[in-house]
Amino acid sequence: MSALIRADLAQISVYKAETHTTNQAPDQTDKLDANEVAVDLPDWFKQKIAARAQTEILGNRYPDGEYLSLKKIIATYAGVEPEQISLGNGSDELIRSLLIATCLNNSGLNNSGLNNSGSILVAEPTFSMYGILAQGLGIPVVKIQRHEQDFSIDLDAAAAAVATGKIKAVCLVHPNSPTGNILNAAELDWIKSLPSDILVVIDEAYFEFSGQTLAGELFLHPNWLILRTFSKAFRLAAYRVGYAITSPELNSALEKIRLPYNLPTISAYAAELAIIHSQELLANIPEIIAEREKILAEVLALDSAKIRAWSSAANFLYLRSSRDAELCAHLKSLGTILRQTGGGLRLTIGTCDQNLRALTRLKDFIGIDLS
Ligand SMILES: *Cc1c(COP(=O)(O)O)cnc(C)c1O
Repeated sequence: MSALIRADLAQISVYKAETHTTNQAPDQTDKLDANEVAVDLPDWFKQKIAARAQTEILGNRYPDGEYLSLKKIIATYAGVEPEQISLGNGSDELIRSLLIATCLNNSGLNNSGLNNSGSILVAEPTFSMYGILAQGLGIPVVKIQRHEQDFSIDLDAAAAAVATGKIKAVCLVHPNSPTGNILNAAELDWIKSLPSDILVVIDEAYFEFSGQTLAGELFLHPNWLILRTFSKAFRLAAYRVGYAITSPELNSALEKIRLPYNLPTISAYAAELAIIHSQELLANIPEIIAEREKILAEVLALDSAKIRAWSSAANFLYLRSSRDAELCAHLKSLGTILRQTGGGLRLTIGTCDQNLRALTRLKDFIGIDLS
């Protein structure tokens, strides 16, 4: 069998997350590892989806393959034109599509006679799917580091990487996961200075929490592409809907790559409904942000030799302790699930009760650690 499968796939690890797909959980598990909103969709919202499936959706028919009504609603929400919107089965699908559209088969000699002009650039720690999806397509990944004090990008390293002529796409998360920081002024200047034959991906998965977007500047930069998702603030992770906002040119390239009928009819409907009812669905964001600030203050008050935390513009906090793996395992044994990633721990802000349990357990562990 091994002779059958591409040798470079051996280096790729499968993206794993803790699963928690029903509310019949046998135990009191606080799932704070995937940056989902902790509270499920309201009943009235679920009932609308169920009613739609029952009475209006023809189960035997393919979806409307253009998804125009959803694109129009998203365009209005994002303040752009429908021709600028592409839809994905989660924004993960769009990441793969944009890699195919720009980098795949683009690793031979470029105009300057340099090799590997189809590489992507990522600044670690960051969302791991960029690297995983690129590797799966055989696209080289160039990794640079971030400064530890605020997780801003090492721009000297970034410039040096671009100067090699190998980088075809720069992939940035705004605010970054797992570190929670938004792009700063120097980083913005840098991406504005990039040549138009380099794709700049700005992943705004946490836009509804941060209130930060570069959508208003897209018209100046046809090589920029913004990614958003319904999986986080809109609470539709189960439905798998993401979207890209970009120039009509790049958008039509994504459309060529897209699989036909990539969104199930019910998912497209759920996303439409979510935007129509965005006020209700997004109403708990201020509470999540207030909880985030409360936890941050509490962790910052602990011994910084034992645990550190950084401010965040999203619905999670990034922590580093002297014993991350043990801390993560200890909390898990008590029922609080965090994600260990990028040399630290990412804690999703959950309900008040979940947050309190997480904080109490964390403080206990730090206390144990001291003895
Ligand atoms: C969660 C997340 C996504 C993935 O979103 P889906 O639409 O669920 O595929 C993309 N980017 C970042 C940074 C994320 O945190």
